[in-house]
Amino acid sequence: MKNFNIKNLVRPNVAGLKPYSSARDEYQSTTSEMVFLDANENPFQTDVNRYPDPQQRSLKTELAKIKAVSVENILLGNGSDEVLDLLFRAFCEPGKDNIITLPPTYGMYKVLANINNIENREVLLASDFEPDVKEILNSVDENTKMVFLCSPNNPTGNSFSEENILKILEQFNGLVIIDEAYIDFSAKESWVKKLKNYPNLVITQTLSKAYGMAGIRLGICYASEAIIKTLNKIKPPYNVNELTQLRALNRVLDRKGVETEILDLLKERADLNKALEEISFIEKIYPSDANFILVKVDDANKRYNQLIEKGIVIRNRSTQALCENTLRFTVGTGKENQKLIMALKSLK
Ligand SMILES: *Cc1c(COP(=O)(O)O)cnc(C)c1O
Repeated sequence: MKNFNIKNLVRPNVAGLKPYSSARDEYQSTTSEMVFLDANENPFQTDVNRYPDPQQRSLKTELAKIKAVSVENILLGNGSDEVLDLLFRAFCEPGKDNIITLPPTYGMYKVLANINNIENREVLLASDFEPDVKEILNSVDENTKMVFLCSPNNPTGNSFSEENILKILEQFNGLVIIDEAYIDFSAKESWVKKLKNYPNLVITQTLSKAYGMAGIRLGICYASEAIIKTLNKIKPPYNVNELTQLRALNRVLDRKGVETEILDLLKERADLNKALEEISFIEKIYPSDANFILVKVDDANKRYNQLIEKGIVIRNRSTQALCENTLRFTVGTGKENQKLIMALKSLK
């Protein structure tokens, strides 16, 4: 990132765009004494008869406090999936640009690359599931706009070493997206703290996992002001609805509640890990920094089907690169994990 300049990355048509200005962008006020006749809303109260805040200020203010960043470093979306899609649409020219992903990893990067007609250059993780930095840098050309690092990684569960991530941040001139969907289950520090040092760093987080709110769809992007400004140009004006903003704010304010659940899940993860060691057909348990555990078994298809018959749904990850005969168990409640262990013990 020696010669990093965001102007060289943004798609030309996006660089020239003026963001759409909605009624609620042009006049913002929270005082209820004003008479709002500007947005063709229905005046009768339903609690949601008004358009939501397009910039989600209350929620961002709280997140900014917790993460020690400024509100201008935050963009919110309809799940991280929308945030990731906005990154593609802002920075990658269809049919021309490319991105780099590191299988086995989260499937959405590839799906979004395909939808946006962007070449997805896949550089397999090394055998220890760490990024192959040399091969990644070798795959970069002048049209490589983004490298996706999922840390802790789904489905392998490990966090990437700080050293490897730093090398990529320092030597790649495009955006380095670190997907921290599982960061709250990890003992490692979030990269949000390093935002100021790296203008090419983009971090995504979500309320879907540790915050227990997958149903409301709230994804978060932390990046430089310049990057956030660019994403704001192309986001749909009301992309985070009012109900989501309210529920998310309440949850984020309940820091004790969230913290207690995370600690509980970490304890359950440790217990589950221990119990899995006793299962004869489990050949390997991969260390996890997330709320799931990946294991290698004798015959993943057979074990998957047996568990379905016992009423337990897990994920068979065997089709993923480097993941032959692997199963992924999400950490559930103590009771659920107990059921899983009992079921696994009973399998022939
Ligand atoms: C679950 C998950 C997400 C969450 O996506 P949302 O759209 O916010 O629900 C993001 N990244 C990874 C790697 C995940 O596993």
